[in-house]
Amino acid sequence: MAVPIIKHVRAFTVRGGGADYHDQGRDHWIDDNISTPMSKYPAYRESRQSFGINVLGTLVVEIETDTGVTGFAVTTGGEIGAFIVEKHLARFCEGRPVTDIEIMWDQMFNGTLYYGRRGIVLNAISGVDLALWDLLGQVRQEPVYAMIGGPVRDELQFYATGARPDLAKDMGFIGGKMAVQHGPAQGKDGMVAELTRLEKMRNAVGEDFWLMFDCWMSLDVNYATKLATAAHDYGLKWIEEALPPDDYWGYAELRRNVPRGMMVTTGEHEATRWGFRLLLEMECCDILQPDVGWCGGLTELLKISALADAHNKMVVPHGSSVYSYHFVITRHNSPFSEFLMMAPKADEVVPMFSPMLLDEPIPVNGRMKVPDRPGFGVRLSPDLDLNRPYDH
Ligand SMILES: [Mg+2]
Repeated sequence: MAVPIIKHVRAFTVRGGGADYHDQGRDHWIDDNISTPMSKYPAYRESRQSFGINVLGTLVVEIETDTGVTGFAVTTGGEIGAFIVEKHLARFCEGRPVTDIEIMWDQMFNGTLYYGRRGIVLNAISGVDLALWDLLGQVRQEPVYAMIGGPVRDELQFYATGARPDLAKDMGFIGGKMAVQHGPAQGKDGMVAELTRLEKMRNAVGEDFWLMFDCWMSLDVNYATKLATAAHDYGLKWIEEALPPDDYWGYAELRRNVPRGMMVTTGEHEATRWGFRLLLEMECCDILQPDVGWCGGLTELLKISALADAHNKMVVPHGSSVYSYHFVITRHNSPFSEFLMMAPKADEVVPMFSPMLLDEPIPVNGRMKVPDRPGFGVRLSPDLDLNRPYDH
């Protein structure tokens, strides 16, 4: 059978939600006084948009074959990502059979190694890689999950990330993860406020519902240890991304410090098998949380997952909607999924990458069957205001 050849790789940018889910309007829980590494500066404390969390915007990568079949993917990356895709990464894909994903990944990574390794370059590589998997699925008329080993269970089950774990419980989720709103700079009063909020939520949801804290890189070992120790009284299941991602030593120490039974999780701002190898070998955490749109794409996530499996660690990807769902359903060491509550008040379930994708599935009663459609099973909304800042 003749394998279609990749003819065009194109990169677009788009603003307002979507893959750059921090790019929201005002009065959204995701931008309401969340503790960050910038919270030590009072001027940047109230809103993450104040220090530029939404500066990048969404990157859309579209890949077309010589037979006119297209695949696409979205990630965070905006105009810089579009530049990297068009001016640098496209050359490693165009002219190749759609099946050559492994060599394309290797050339994209090694060809950018002198300025890449992680960050925006890996976001861009991830976007191309996910678009390649979508394209292969469109060519073969198979869902991505079927091409990477097939499902190991019937459906996904979800915990919810948002401001209202109590409402998430009513919606059928298995747990609720709240963003911490105070860090070391806000001292003891801040910690008391945090614990008070946790206690209130525990009282609202009862004993068995999972409650977690997401600290978005904003604490230090001492503060995180105190918070985890006190939060143990309210059954905190895990403390997430407590420290800056480069502080592997701090994570190892925190993991030794937290109360027995509480998990330390991290990895959403980590990239590649080499970054995750450090987290594993230094015993930094109990659950790895790679973002498939940032860590190197699905090709790399499969390698990270195999490495984690050999260390008896779970891999529960950060957000990323369908790009995570197709992975999670195929892995034994990925027993549940994250769902980001993107309704401004976290009071209803809306598609995670809303309003960017058509056919984007959502959990019902906290559960979801991954749709049996080719590729990642979604389409780009025709209503988007796409911009193509570069070409080649
Ligand atoms: Mg997180």
